[in-house]
Amino acid sequence: MNNELIKLSEAELTDLLTSWGYPRFRGKQVFEWVHRHHARSFEEMSNLPKELRARLAEAFPLNNVALSDRQVSQDGTRKYVIELSDGALVETVGMPVFKNDGTIDRLTVCVSSQVGCPMACSFCATGREGLTRNLEAAEIIAQVALVQNDFDNRVSNIVVMGQGEPFLNYEEVLSALRILNSDQDFNIGARHITISTCGLIAGIDRLAKEPEQFTLAVSLHSAIQHKRDSLMPKVSQQSLTLLKEALRVYIQKTNRRVTLEYLLIEGVNDSEKDLQALIEFCEGLLCHVNLLPVNAIEGSPLRPASEETADHWVASLSRHGIETSFRRSRGSDIDGACGQLKNKLTQSQLQ
Ligand code: SF4
Repeated sequence: MNNELIKLSEAELTDLLTSWGYPRFRGKQVFEWVHRHHARSFEEMSNLPKELRARLAEAFPLNNVALSDRQVSQDGTRKYVIELSDGALVETVGMPVFKNDGTIDRLTVCVSSQVGCPMACSFCATGREGLTRNLEAAEIIAQVALVQNDFDNRVSNIVVMGQGEPFLNYEEVLSALRILNSDQDFNIGARHITISTCGLIAGIDRLAKEPEQFTLAVSLHSAIQHKRDSLMPKVSQQSLTLLKEALRVYIQKTNRRVTLEYLLIEGVNDSEKDLQALIEFCEGLLCHVNLLPVNAIEGSPLRPASEETADHWVASLSRHGIETSFRRSRGSDIDGACGQLKNKLTQSQLQ
């Protein structure tokens, strides 16, 4: 869909179409095609006069996405490589949770917010490729629409945790999330929408002022400064002390719990000292710690910590009153790590 068109409210569309000489109800019709039916072409808008469809097509050139590759995991996770209209590729993941009868209970979509990423985190396949460009809101929404169609099931949750740092594309990400949240569109509850940042303080401060109750997740990965700096070099100028202060203010302003993401990496950030540092970082914060095994990526020496270590961390953090979960990797039998599937595809296209 066209990025300008998707951002127009029903009132703005009605104003535009009346200024073109059409009756007011045409605004509502176009709005419904864009937001309720997620039309991919103006020809589909069958109840509009032909000349209006032609004028819309001229004013709002379409920017559709296409499926380039799809892998299905044994656990039901589906990973997609999506080709944008300029040929750039991004990854999107659909993660269903099933009921006992095999039907889908919840469907979470992990969307990308940028093509590539400039943050260069050492454990991330996307970080190796650098930034190509920001995604438009329409391209973020198109990822959700594609997964919804592929599963033929309503999307219930969004995590902006795919490729890219969402706070470096703040405006377009927030525009997309507002549309996904709107009851005239996907109607996904704000609390079921999570923005995951590597800890950009300006973005955290800005999100604290938004009226929507979106959930904030911060990739911490170490509460020891020099370790975090080497894992996430591009946020090294923002100290853990400043990050904690920003989170404290965010929690105070929004009264919302923050999720701290922590990839457990064997021999890197999984010692008792690391655990103690994390416990201290959490002190006084309304937070939930989400421990995750690092995904092994080709050419990287990083390996996931053992299950015993993960169990020990969950027990210790819980003993200190810190709500903790250990999430096993979804889709680990496919190219699970962010950026892996796309990189593999790009390499095979180059060969
Ligand atoms: S982990 Fe996220 S922020 Fe870091 S390089 Fe990868 S995509 Fe970017």
